[in-house]
Amino acid sequence: MNTKEIMAQYEEFVIGTYTRIPTVIVKGKGLKVWDLEGNEYLDFFPGWAVSGLGHCHPMVVNAVRNYIKKIIHVPNNYYNMLQGKLAQRIIENSFSGKVFFCNSGAEANEAAIKLVRAYGSSKGKYEIITMQNSFHGRTLATMTATGQPKYQKGFEPLPAGFKSVPFNDIKALEDAVTDKTAAIMLELIQGEGGINVADADYVKKVRELCDRKGLVLVFDEVQTGMGRTGEMFCFQVYGVQPDVMTLAKSLGGGLPIGATVAAGKFADVLKPGMHASTFGGSPIACAAAIAVFDAIKKEKLLSNTRNMGKYLVEKLNGLKKKHPVIKEIRGKGLMIGAELTVEGKDIVDNCFKEKVLINCAHGCVLRLMPGMIVNKKQIDTAIAALDKVMP
Ligand SMILES: *Cc1c(COP(=O)(O)O)cnc(C)c1O
Repeated sequence: MNTKEIMAQYEEFVIGTYTRIPTVIVKGKGLKVWDLEGNEYLDFFPGWAVSGLGHCHPMVVNAVRNYIKKIIHVPNNYYNMLQGKLAQRIIENSFSGKVFFCNSGAEANEAAIKLVRAYGSSKGKYEIITMQNSFHGRTLATMTATGQPKYQKGFEPLPAGFKSVPFNDIKALEDAVTDKTAAIMLELIQGEGGINVADADYVKKVRELCDRKGLVLVFDEVQTGMGRTGEMFCFQVYGVQPDVMTLAKSLGGGLPIGATVAAGKFADVLKPGMHASTFGGSPIACAAAIAVFDAIKKEKLLSNTRNMGKYLVEKLNGLKKKHPVIKEIRGKGLMIGAELTVEGKDIVDNCFKEKVLINCAHGCVLRLMPGMIVNKKQIDTAIAALDKVMP
């Protein structure tokens, strides 16, 4: 089948929830992907950071290949060889506590929301305060937690117990807390919201507010986690520890896996029968995620992320001098946004024609999140394409 025929097949049989770029991706390696027609692209936006180590990282491929011959799925009424090992790896790299496994970011946040509700229920606390322009997923609860009405429209009635306040505004947050408030949930860098970076002082004050009022602090690190911002987790960039952290996206090196990490005091809130996920923590997904941790360490990808992130920002600031359409460069590590004075869609489309894949968030913020293995030469290529297509 050719590209046109595959598109027609989607048109007829796949529910049209996505706006898709008209190309069929058939192969990936490192920062390169190829389409059905043999075109090669440089991928600076590998699946919202899902392929955070680049496509088909050999350590991930090997781990999956070796384990899948043994067994593919082990249900959660038994133990498997790798779920505990991955949980230990996550805890040793974050904070002491325990992990619940699922398959996506929305599910990881859903588990966090249930944990918060379970924790607060005996005290009559259930309300969760989130941030405007946040993104937490597409299930009913996580879509309601998401502080962007555009995702909620038409799906009312929304579940009760959520409200959102302006990001980086400690006063608004303090004012929103009531005796029903159970938790505050936020992304340290809002991804879908347009790479909005939390102020260091704000994050400290949010932690203090939670301590003062006995609120659970939840960091959604679904997009920022696993090295993306130059530390294993973004909370480490801030030096502020959450009570609950959620992960997904690049955790499995491309395979679907999500995790809800609960610090000590909250680690035993969810008890047998209170929550579950049929596929959660399957040995194959865990094998892949363990390989991701191993690869980040072995290939020193955190320092590469910091160094290449600096280089990328430098180069983007160079572009900004030349093209007044670029308003601001922001982000941390390799999670970088370039805010424009215009809509970014045409620039993304024109980069695609130049065989460089990027993204646009929130209408006017170009988003660059190349695999953590990126090098200077690849950054130069992406910058040259951007330079060429800038209006
Ligand atoms: C993508 C994302 C989610 C949702 O993850 P899914 O795997 O699509 O359910 C939640 N939170 C953040 C911050 C995200 O970037």
